[in-house]
Amino acid sequence: MYGYPDDEAKSKIGELMVNLKKASQLPRLCEGDFNLMLTSSDKKGGGNFKTHEANILREAVRECNFSDLGYVRHDYMWSNNRGGDQNLQEGLDRFFANEEWKERFPGAYVTYLDKRKSGHLPVLLSCKGIPNCTNDRRKWKLYRGGVWQVDVLKELFSEEEVKEIMKIPLPKFDTRDVWACNQTKDGEYSVKSAYHVALKQKREAQPSTSSMEQERVWKELWAIEAPPKIKNFGWQALQRGIPARAKILSRGIRVDDICPQCGEERESSLHLLTTCENAKGVWRISRLRLNVCVEGRFSFKDWVSKLSTCYKEKEWWSLFWCILWEIWNRRNGWDFEQKRREHIDVNHKAVSLIGEYSKAQGKPTNGNNAVVRDYDGDVVVAACKKKEGEYAVDVAEAMAMRFSLQIAIEAGFHKFILEVDNLKLFNHRWVMVKPLSSKLL
Ligand SMILES: [Zn+2]
Repeated sequence: MYGYPDDEAKSKIGELMVNLKKASQLPRLCEGDFNLMLTSSDKKGGGNFKTHEANILREAVRECNFSDLGYVRHDYMWSNNRGGDQNLQEGLDRFFANEEWKERFPGAYVTYLDKRKSGHLPVLLSCKGIPNCTNDRRKWKLYRGGVWQVDVLKELFSEEEVKEIMKIPLPKFDTRDVWACNQTKDGEYSVKSAYHVALKQKREAQPSTSSMEQERVWKELWAIEAPPKIKNFGWQALQRGIPARAKILSRGIRVDDICPQCGEERESSLHLLTTCENAKGVWRISRLRLNVCVEGRFSFKDWVSKLSTCYKEKEWWSLFWCILWEIWNRRNGWDFEQKRREHIDVNHKAVSLIGEYSKAQGKPTNGNNAVVRDYDGDVVVAACKKKEGEYAVDVAEAMAMRFSLQIAIEAGFHKFILEVDNLKLFNHRWVMVKPLSSKLL
């Protein structure tokens, strides 16, 4: 509706509203620039608020059993766009609805969007349901159970738009969209959160990982002997971070960003892959025997970069990225299918990924990995060696143990504690240790 702007004709809009009400008893929504205000708070600047004009609208609203749908964001919907004392702003645009309409669209709300060339703000009415589709709402559900409904999207959007929409990650369960601040756990904006964002931006402006280091990390990643999906995963983790909960939240989608595995901290890429107790356990018992210790200000990229200065072997990196991949897989199984997997299982799967890849490349090989740690559990020596040919698991493990002892001796150690995850070897440990100082090496 558009209300007459001339003073003498203003009452006509009120008459029109009442006449329309008499003509139909349907659920009604009435929207427009009424050129009338409801209260004195609808006006800023200019001459006096005219109560007799407001009464025209008040009376019509009462007669039609309308109520104001309200609005969010801006106080005044119209401005004469002049500066200083000349500026005049008024709330002239409104949405009214009767009870029948409101019952049909519970939770509908009005948002005044940002400016505009016109003197009026663009306005958006958001409804939970879609008019005329009340008998077939399912058809219009854009996603269900965490999956985009491609057919529905194609029906509603252009091909290009569908492609863009499909890139948006979805929460596991269907939830109603809400406005959320992406910097806080609960999505609520606070001055404190803004302060932290400013600090973070300042910190990020000084890159902690130099471009040369970064290039080296890329090269080492692309050179690993593992399936391409793992390289892509590694690239994503380094480049943008994997879609852990904290990241999903940062994209404006409101989810619980607490780690689903430990339930103790925000689930960032760094937490999920390294500092979560569940990840630490995997690294600790892995063949890489990594004792994860990450400083608070470090990112996942920093951590990898730091490791890359310690370990150069391609085999080491192949296993490293396969373990990361499996930690990520375990997390998804945990979160989406409530599957629990032991640390040792994650490690075995990572090692077998490398084996399978080598086999697919036509290279039946066995890798020997040796790691020596000190009493604090820190890795002091780590080495990997490839062995051509196929061996039974026990034989391969025994060869790995022999290899470990070799490098430990070479590194100048004389007293050892051997850790094995093979029961057969464990039972034979005394036999193994005996010839240690004499014939075996
Ligand atoms: Zn965790």
